Amino acid sequence: MKIKAAVLHAPKSPFQIEELTLEAPRAGEVLVRIKAIGVCHSDWHLVSGATKHPMPVVAGHEGAGIVEAVGADVTDLTVGDHLILNWAPACGECFYCQHNQSNLCDTYTEPIWAGTMLDGTTRLHRNGAPVYSYCGTASFATHTVVPRASCVVIRNDAPLDRACLVGCAVATGVGAAIFTAGVKASESVVVFGCGGVGLNIIQGAKLCDASTVIAVDARQEKEPLARQFGATHFVSANEHMIDQIRDLTGGRGADHAFEAVGVPKLQERALDAIRPGGTLTLAGLSPMGSTTNFPAAVLARQEKTVKGSYYGSVNPQRDFPMLLDLYMSGKLKLDELVSRRYSLDQINEAFEQMLTGGAARGVIVF
Ligand SMILES: [Zn+2]
Ligand SMILES: [Zn+2]
Repeated sequence: MKIKAAVLHAPKSPFQIEELTLEAPRAGEVLVRIKAIGVCHSDWHLVSGATKHPMPVVAGHEGAGIVEAVGADVTDLTVGDHLILNWAPACGECFYCQHNQSNLCDTYTEPIWAGTMLDGTTRLHRNGAPVYSYCGTASFATHTVVPRASCVVIRNDAPLDRACLVGCAVATGVGAAIFTAGVKASESVVVFGCGGVGLNIIQGAKLCDASTVIAVDARQEKEPLARQFGATHFVSANEHMIDQIRDLTGGRGADHAFEAVGVPKLQERALDAIRPGGTLTLAGLSPMGSTTNFPAAVLARQEKTVKGSYYGSVNPQRDFPMLLDLYMSGKLKLDELVSRRYSLDQINEAFEQMLTGGAARGVIVF
């Protein structure tokens, strides 16, 4: 079939809206009509060149849509099912999947990062030449073919233009607070960065009944939004921020700090924001190859813990429906995360706004 997609031909070039050929789903695959897709920094890493990937590529990994057809052997999905796409499909059988760490499943890592389906071939073509799929989801498009393992079926009364955010920013942020760090009631939390992930760490900490939630961002205009998501205090990111955070946490530092930006220098400073015995969780993805220097002497003497958080330690099949239930019952904010809606034709503008504006999340709707 013919589809319309935003195609990236090379780093540091704009997305081109083009007509592509999409093959029918093969065994174990699903054809999805995309209804909404969030604009996330990880897609931008392809444009900036920070993430190396075969090109041309259709990016987009925070998508939601409706099943339009299924390939052979797909017996547990039906045409018309509503889906959130999972950018880290898990096999369900490996060591990690069996140890409740399906976000670390590496069974499909190779084909997914090669930009293909699990059999190593592409379903997208342009003038007969292959076009690659980012994260196996390729959702900056009217339609996509994805592995069955990338599909999470959700209740069909949830609005897809907000549900899509659960697939990356919400899972990554709320999951980091609940699952990776395991924030407990009455603990103090500081969150560095109030973008899509940071705001969700804030609301995750609130769901955990944290007593003090300090939001830190370089942009003062983020304060009202941070407070709306549950921050009790706002601190401007500057050279005095660690002193201010200590003042707000009994002079000791917070029980938990989260770095939601992925900047090595900020990760290092965030360690000073936690008390002895506290935990720093790194939830922002820094570019591959970047390094962070933590003082081992302080880590040992003060029993500080540094944790990595990948995809919020969630199990998408289990947790996406749970997060949507929280939204539908009024306990999780999604509406307020959407700062602007765009058409696919406006994709370059959407990324420009993401980089320059105070936006929480832009969503492309179809
Ligand atoms: Zn993302
Ligand atoms: Zn696995």
